[in-house]
Amino acid sequence: MLIKQIPIRNELRNYMYLLACESTRQAIAIDPLDHALCLQVAKEIGLQITVVANTHHHHDHIGGNGPVVAATGAQLVAHADAMQSIPEVDRGLNSGDTLQCGELSLKVMSTPGHTMSHICLYFEGNDSEAPALFCGDTLFNAGVGRCDFGGDPKVLYETFAEQIFILPDNVRVFPGHDYIENNLRFTLDREPGNQAAQSLTAEFAAGLDAESYVTTIGLEHEINVFFRLSEPEVRAGVAQSQGVDAAELDDQATFIGLRGLRDNW
Ligand SMILES: [Zn+2]
Repeated sequence: MLIKQIPIRNELRNYMYLLACESTRQAIAIDPLDHALCLQVAKEIGLQITVVANTHHHHDHIGGNGPVVAATGAQLVAHADAMQSIPEVDRGLNSGDTLQCGELSLKVMSTPGHTMSHICLYFEGNDSEAPALFCGDTLFNAGVGRCDFGGDPKVLYETFAEQIFILPDNVRVFPGHDYIENNLRFTLDREPGNQAAQSLTAEFAAGLDAESYVTTIGLEHEINVFFRLSEPEVRAGVAQSQGVDAAELDDQATFIGLRGLRDNW
């Protein structure tokens, strides 16, 4: 699979993606907000966009659909439950569906929490390529999506517990926004001694390009505080913020507490 990650460099630092079958050159465009840039990149590398996929209905993900569909005739796909919120969806997707493009096939995951109708697309990998997760605003590098624009942190926790924490360590993570440096600062605010977060922060300060840095699920377990719910320091910090005993908190309560702290951070 050819993966082209396209940073938009807008205020929200959105990423778009082109995922292509290398033999047919047909491509899926994920959340092509900057439609002109998306179409230009596809043309430059010789791809024909046949599918536009939205991870969820927020405007910074669907705002480019119209011009890309008009220019390419692509099929527009999104979560079946997002079809009322996204104009002119051709196909509603459900958990376990397959999204096909040429010889490329991706598994659809229903991952509510940031919004209640959010999908992630999962590439299972093969002998020469590691798996990959295109996760919109569910999972960010070193962070998770916020829940105060139509979501629910309890549901987001369930999504992570049931579907994200259990993914193999070698899965590459391709989120909907470039937030890694700020998210690392939050991890270090909660866990000042986190060595993996410290060393990655130092690498970015020394010039490593954060915008094109790809994490893996294995690395997320080290640098993303939302993956580290049973670490005593993390749990104690959430308990202290709520004036309760750490023993009263389970993983879900710790996750929800962290989400609340991050909202007001
Ligand atoms: Zn969103």
